[in-house]
Amino acid sequence: MDQSKIDALRVRPVFPQLHLIDGKPVPASDGATMDVLSPLDGQVLTTMAKGTAADMESAIASARAAFDDRRWAGQPPAARKKVLLKWADLIESNALELAVLGVRDNGTEIGMAIKAEPGSAAGTIRYYAEALDKVYGEIAPTQSDVLGLIQKEPVGVVGAIIPWNFPLMIGAWKLGPALAMGNSVVLKPAETASLSLMRMVELAHEAGLPPGVLNAVTGEGAVVGEAMGLSMDVDVLVFTGSGSTGRRLMEYSARSNMKRVYLELGGKSPNIIFADAPDLEEAAKVTAHGIFRNAGQVCVAGSRLLVEASIHDEFVSKVAEVAKGMQVGDPLSLQTAIGAVNSDRQLDQNLGFVETASAEGGQIIMGGNRILHETGGYFMEPTIVTGVTPDATLAQKEVFGPVLAVTAFDTEEDAIRIANSTVYGLAGAVWTSNLSRAHRVLRDVRTGVMHVNTYGGADGTVPLGGVGQSGNGHDKSLYALEKYINLKTAWIKL
Ligand code: NAD
Repeated sequence: MDQSKIDALRVRPVFPQLHLIDGKPVPASDGATMDVLSPLDGQVLTTMAKGTAADMESAIASARAAFDDRRWAGQPPAARKKVLLKWADLIESNALELAVLGVRDNGTEIGMAIKAEPGSAAGTIRYYAEALDKVYGEIAPTQSDVLGLIQKEPVGVVGAIIPWNFPLMIGAWKLGPALAMGNSVVLKPAETASLSLMRMVELAHEAGLPPGVLNAVTGEGAVVGEAMGLSMDVDVLVFTGSGSTGRRLMEYSARSNMKRVYLELGGKSPNIIFADAPDLEEAAKVTAHGIFRNAGQVCVAGSRLLVEASIHDEFVSKVAEVAKGMQVGDPLSLQTAIGAVNSDRQLDQNLGFVETASAEGGQIIMGGNRILHETGGYFMEPTIVTGVTPDATLAQKEVFGPVLAVTAFDTEEDAIRIANSTVYGLAGAVWTSNLSRAHRVLRDVRTGVMHVNTYGGADGTVPLGGVGQSGNGHDKSLYALEKYINLKTAWIKL
């Protein structure tokens, strides 16, 4: 990657962002806009349409019309595949532009953004493009005078609400399978990270996606997100974000048309280090990256470090040593390891968690502060808190910031009990050389994803989903397709 190309893109003017409805850019119905602040310097980057409920209804109506006349679902699979593959190519050929725009909007360090955002999104769209003509229906083993067909149909209109931490990657996790299965989609990007995702939606149209099949409305979750949730004409709602919004979406569904709601809600993932881990240096390095990359704003972040008591002090110092070497700062510099926190609200929330941890008896052995005030941006030191008891706020609540909670344990049973002591169940890891122990721990820790002797990096071939209050349903892999299809039985008398 070339720093001079990044520097040329970082000063590009960003034009005011409008909605994209029926293939056209449109302003809010009342003309309202909202400022888009950059977490790099706290300055206004541009404005975007501040959507109204009427805007959302118009986007949903456009999606419904596109679905009903089968302008997308009715195309031959090879034609739909071609459009999606072209879209993936366009995402790739515009990767740097998309990544830099996204970083200016959400603050992720560019080294990570380029891979995790356009890189991952293009791969995801391509994966589902290639899958779409390999999804078959079934013939049931019925008695011989009937034919029982099990057909897979698109659900209709999908509403997708996307968070700000990885808008392209997570956006693609929803858009890829939804569009591959022939649905129409209405997208609601996050207030603080809409721009790159809106550009990715434009590229879908450049690739030949028919107007109306993919619509996107910007604005406040409480307004346009609510209108989507309460719509009688959205068939499936897919979401990544906070548990409190997830709960609301279920309520909206119950109060409207009982649409299916799939939630991915983050976690408090335990990273369990036994004294017999194969390589403690490597474990420390991966542990630090597993919590501090993207300033901790990662749903699967290993935010709870559970360390066997006999190596606690030695291992924590190793993690701190790695963290000290991770440069915090300008997210558009290739030297930066930890970029900006997404918003001042999120930063205040992170600092509040550190204060509470200290008040509850945790020892802040590293970090804990806002830094680089002079930039006007939202930067925080990587923070390590030891002595966090399993019932402490820092062990129980998702911070979504660069804050690692450390707890010592004595036995394998202890480690599993502590690992399972939150309402979440998204991800986790166990580090050990003992094969039987690795299998026992990965079986007994209740999460959707477990790593062994590594953390993170699972690719699109495997599902991502949580148990408990980390959500339901899965993104990634062929299992994600299930959210976007209805099974129809055809019972035919022969
Ligand atoms: P959020 O849940 O409020 O926002 C996520 C998305 O939901 C955004 O697009 C937002 O506009 C939309 N939304 C908000 N209120 C809505 C409503 N009433 N109806 C419909 N849509 C609505 O999350 P946040 O406030 O941006 O962040 C708060 C916390 O959420 C974070 O601290 C973190 O714990 C968690 N989070 C998790 C993830 C993840 O990847 N799991 C991502 C972002 C945030």
